[in-house]
Amino acid sequence: VAVRAVVLREGRLVVDEVPDPVPAPGQVLARVLACGICGSDLHARDHLDAMIDLQRRTRPGGPGLDATRDLVMGHEFCAELVDGSGGTLRSGTRVCSMPISVATGSIQALGYSNDLPGAYGELVVLDEALCLPVPGDLPTELAALTEPLAVGRHAVEKARLTRDDVALVLGCGPIGLAVILALRRQGIGPIVAADYSAARRALAERLGADVVVDPAATSPYERWEDLAWPPEADRTNPLVRLLGPQPRPGVVFECVGVPGVLAAITRGAMRDTRVVVVGVCMETDHLEPMLAIGKELSLQFVLGYTPDEFADTLRALADGELDAAPLITGQVDLDGTPAAFAALADPEAHAKILVRP
Ligand SMILES: [Zn+2]
Repeated sequence: VAVRAVVLREGRLVVDEVPDPVPAPGQVLARVLACGICGSDLHARDHLDAMIDLQRRTRPGGPGLDATRDLVMGHEFCAELVDGSGGTLRSGTRVCSMPISVATGSIQALGYSNDLPGAYGELVVLDEALCLPVPGDLPTELAALTEPLAVGRHAVEKARLTRDDVALVLGCGPIGLAVILALRRQGIGPIVAADYSAARRALAERLGADVVVDPAATSPYERWEDLAWPPEADRTNPLVRLLGPQPRPGVVFECVGVPGVLAAITRGAMRDTRVVVVGVCMETDHLEPMLAIGKELSLQFVLGYTPDEFADTLRALADGELDAAPLITGQVDLDGTPAAFAALADPEAHAKILVRP
């Protein structure tokens, strides 16, 4: 039997028939209902060799991807069990799962493994132990946002914020927007969000940013610092700078992931700022440590989420604590997926496109 999937083959996305995935012991077969297209997948399509090289160096001895073999990506999904295991996981149950499998003895990344096809196809196999039933009447499209929103949740968790923090979010793509939603949910504010795209700034505002900035027109750092200082403090007075009152603590979320952003942050950030690096830059980057030393900046890199954060994000979506619907700007079928990858290059047009196989 064969099922249809979007396959990355020799650097191109093609819709083709692939072998029916077969569950190993501890796994269940599921029909994909919706899967978000992630920026990492856009990157993988164009730079798979570079990604594989980085994967080898960050996880030596790991399973590793083979660029000469077919790859079915897709890791932000909601699926319906075809062959339930009984108990709470009956056939027809909608589930979300972290996109990994440990059932075959090693950790496989669903959607970034030649042997564990991702959700840009009709069927996936999932680890039964990782399947979370989608609560109640949460729409499938919103359930599919669990994975990217969990990334924002984790970044905010790692920032160890206090109520006092003034947050600056650089970059309002899906990751930056997920961070804004997570900050809002924790009651952190004000939130300043910066993006060159007007459409993304509008989305940031809709999802909870208090101030949005076009960096081409205004310095995001100045707007953010203005909000951090007590209005009555004369910041130009060196004695005030020395003896106070002091500004509220600042935190910057780097959600851009291109070379040069970290250096810009070291130039622009206030003293004592904590910088949380969520954007995934896969190139060599440079910064001048002395600029960060002079301000005693902290640099925290983050990746993924914990199982608890993932489950909590799904629950928060179901309870309406996260109003993420505006993130979804398009839905396509498998045949429309290659064109959707191209459409996502335009930040004015799209944030998150869902594939509905
Ligand atoms: Zn992703």
